[in-house]
Amino acid sequence: MKTCMNCNIKIGGRTDTCPLCQNSLSGEATENNWPTPTRLKTQAFLYKLQLFVVLAVIVVGLSLDFLLNLNNGKHYSLIFSLWFIVFEWDLSSNIKKLFVPSRVVSISILHICILLLITGNFFDFFDIMAFMVVPILIGAALLANTALSMTDTSDNAMIYLLENILLIFIVYAVLKAKHIDTGLVWTICLMLGLVSLIAVIIFKGRKVSSEIQRRMNF
Ligand SMILES: [Zn+2]
Repeated sequence: MKTCMNCNIKIGGRTDTCPLCQNSLSGEATENNWPTPTRLKTQAFLYKLQLFVVLAVIVVGLSLDFLLNLNNGKHYSLIFSLWFIVFEWDLSSNIKKLFVPSRVVSISILHICILLLITGNFFDFFDIMAFMVVPILIGAALLANTALSMTDTSDNAMIYLLENILLIFIVYAVLKAKHIDTGLVWTICLMLGLVSLIAVIIFKGRKVSSEIQRRMNF
């Protein structure tokens, strides 16, 4: 039997990590208590297959770009590789952890926004990304997180909503401090953030304060 020192429990089978706290286990592995379902094997195979295809595309793309220099010094393959790598990173982290809709929405949209800004900078349409596309995506994440916070009873959506609102406030404050025109879409984003904050405080007030206290204890 393997033991989790953290949770003080014994776990049968060959698993390396504690099912409760994800700590690594010590002790001898025993026979698995049940056979591995074939559906999981198929999923694992499909995951590996797509990972192989994506990595192969990245390698071929980078080789064509850097070794054959097809793009006359504009290394587009770096941008496409970056998109693929972040996609794989998000995919694997979402497979490993429990599926939490608010986390998936928040982290994916944040990553996409960062990639869009980098891509926009590379292809000379940074302003459209920074003042149109990114605030629309952040606003969409805000609406999704607000809806999830209002309906989700498992407490997970609230922290992502609060982070989302904080992000909008920070971006707005930085733009204002640097005397950059925030534009209409960021202003709408800020208004939505404020309305959403009022809504959660009124309807979920106790949860908001307990969530903030919980995170401040770190
Ligand atoms: Zn544990």
